[in-house]
Formats: sequence, structure tokens, C-alpha cells
Amino acid sequence: MNQILKRKALDSIKPYTPGKPLWELQDELGLQEVIKLAANENPLGASPKAIEAIFNILNELNRYPDAHAVELKKIIASRLDLKTEQLIITNGADELITLISETFLEPSDEIIVPFPSFSEYDFGAHLMGAKVVPVPLDHEYQFNIETILAAVTEHTKLIYICSPNNPTGTYMPKSMLEKLLHLLPKNILVVFDSAYSHFATNEDYTNGLEFVRSDDPIIVLQTFSKIYGLAGLRVGFGVAPKSIIQSILHVKEPFNVNSLAQAAAVAALRDHEHVKRSRQLNTEGRVQLYKVLSVLGLEYTESMGNFILVKFGVHANDVYQQLLTHGVIVRYGDIWGLPEHIRISIGTQEEFTILIEAISSILLKLRSVNFKGDVK
Ligand SMILES: *Cc1c(COP(=O)(O)O)cnc(C)c1O
Repeated sequence: MNQILKRKALDSIKPYTPGKPLWELQDELGLQEVIKLAANENPLGASPKAIEAIFNILNELNRYPDAHAVELKKIIASRLDLKTEQLIITNGADELITLISETFLEPSDEIIVPFPSFSEYDFGAHLMGAKVVPVPLDHEYQFNIETILAAVTEHTKLIYICSPNNPTGTYMPKSMLEKLLHLLPKNILVVFDSAYSHFATNEDYTNGLEFVRSDDPIIVLQTFSKIYGLAGLRVGFGVAPKSIIQSILHVKEPFNVNSLAQAAAVAALRDHEHVKRSRQLNTEGRVQLYKVLSVLGLEYTESMGNFILVKFGVHANDVYQQLLTHGVIVRYGDIWGLPEHIRISIGTQEEFTILIEAISSILLKLRSVNFKGDVK
């Protein structure tokens, strides 16, 4: 027995609930064919060029990685028309959220989070003992800057805007972000998470980078886990005015991004073809799924991401569980306070065929039972 107490602030941290891993469901059900549409991963896999880059540096694993990720920063800076001083490379965007929290949040500070959204923002605040001020999204999960501005107090330090927003797929149009930045006091940092920016196709979408270029108090989050298909390697980056990046560098560990991740990210950025194919598959997949959902009489939210939030109603949990027995892993909405919803990632044509067959047969059964009045 010991009496070692952990910090009180940690009591408010809820453990992260990841989507069920493939192998776990395979083990549980003895299924061979399992598909995972639960974590917004790239269904085409990583770029073959990224995989080749990893093979090419395997004999250098005895060396520490580049602490400053110089090559990766250079290529990102030239691609995005930025200076390397405006960049920080991190162990996934998740690490960056923690680093931002460690850099800027005192226990007396508040963060504003439109919800439902990505849970890591709350984690970062709770880690520092700061307060989370949730602001509900508007009608049909749209952003509303009036409610965000109304939540601002003298303690507000960070405002998180996830656009396209996980799990709703809605986004903050460029004019709205411009207005928000204009109206906010300059001592508040907007954390603009555009992890899904590459999938956004609407004209009035912005990934936020233009506001970094004009030196606004904003940090843009990006990741190699989604369209670049490198979620397993853990690499992402932040883009902000130089002084903000310099502040965050105080808390960055020297070797936070491993050498395989750095090499793969450089190669992935150069593989335009893979990015283009991934985006195209996603755009087509969204439209296909909208059509099927409409035919099935299911409500959904139009998405600018690589996932769709679908309303299944009171039977959503049942549908989620039954999809598992069909070997289909999706994300149940209760973690976002959406017990009637399921979030489905866009998959390949083969995956969609399995998904659609499974949903159709589950709904058919549920609805015939309902019809007889057994289930309400
Ligand atoms: C997936 C995701 C990220 C990026 O996560 P990584 O740590 O880079 O894998 C960031 N923000 C949101 C909203 C996400 O869904």
C-alpha cells in the first residue's frame, strides 16, 4: 500500500474512447471479414511512396530523429507559402493540442468549445486544471459566432474551432471566421483545427491559413493521419504567427516526431496523385452514402469531412451493436452526447457494399418488429 496521490486536476479527465480495433472484433466474433469505418482513416491506405521512404531509412534507426524536422518543415513551408518559423511539427495533432494547453492555460483560464466536437480539447484543458466552457452548435450543427462571443469572459484564453467539425462534418465559412477574429479581444487565441480540410469542397470553406499569413491570433492544426493515411505513424503540425510558435516550442520535447514519421510525411506530401485519388474517392463516397441514406429514410448532416453523422433515432445503439455482429465497426454517438446518432467514415466501394447491405437488413428487421408493435 502507498499513499501517493495524483493531482486533483486529473479527476476531471475522462478516458479517451477509441473506435473498436479490427482485431478485437475479429477475436470476439471469430469473424474473418471485418471492416472499420470508425476512425476517419484513409481507406486507400498510405501512399506507396511514403512506405518506400520508410524502407529506405530503416538502416538509420540507431540515430535520433531530427529534433527540428527541418526537411519536413521546408517542404510544408514552400507548399503553403509560409516561413518555417511559422511551423511546429508534432506527434500527431493530438500532441499539439496538449502542447498548446501546456503553453497557454493557467488553472484560472477558460477554453470555449462549440459542441459536440473533438474530445481532446477538453482533455488539454482538464490536464492543466483549466475550465471548459461548452457552447452548443446551432440548428443542424452550424457554427454561430454570437453564442461563441457571448461565452467570452475575462478568463477566456483559447477558442477551439474544428472545421470541418468532427463528428458533425459542418464547418465555419471563411466570412464567419474573419468576423470572429475581428470581434475577439487580441489576448484570445483561436485554435482552428482543420484536420479534415483536404476533404472540404464548398467554395466558402477556409483552412484558416490565410489568417496566419495576415498575422491574426490563430493557430491552424493539420495532420498526416487523415487524407495522407499515416495515422499509425503519429505526425501532424501547427501553423501560427512566429511568436505563438516560439512560445509552444518551450514545451516541445526534442525528439517528439520519430524519423520514420518524418520521412513518410515528406514523401506523402510529394505524392499528389494519392491525395487526389483519396479526395475523389471521398467526394464520391459522400454522395453515394447520402443517396442510400435518403432511400432508407434516414436523416443525415451534409459533411465536408470524410465521415457522415447519421440519425438512427431511438434504435441507434441497437443498430450499432448489430452492425458489429455483421463485422462492421462504426462510431456510436453517445460519446458526443448524441445517443440517437452514428458516425460513419467514408470507405471504399467494397466496404460500402458490405455496410449498405448490413444497414438495410438490420433496418428491415427492426422496422418489421416495430410494425407489429413489439418495439417502440
Ligand atoms: C483525427 C483528428 C485530429 C488529428 O489527430 P492526430 O493526432 O494527428 O492523429 C485532430 N483533430 C481532429 C478533429 C481529428 O478528428
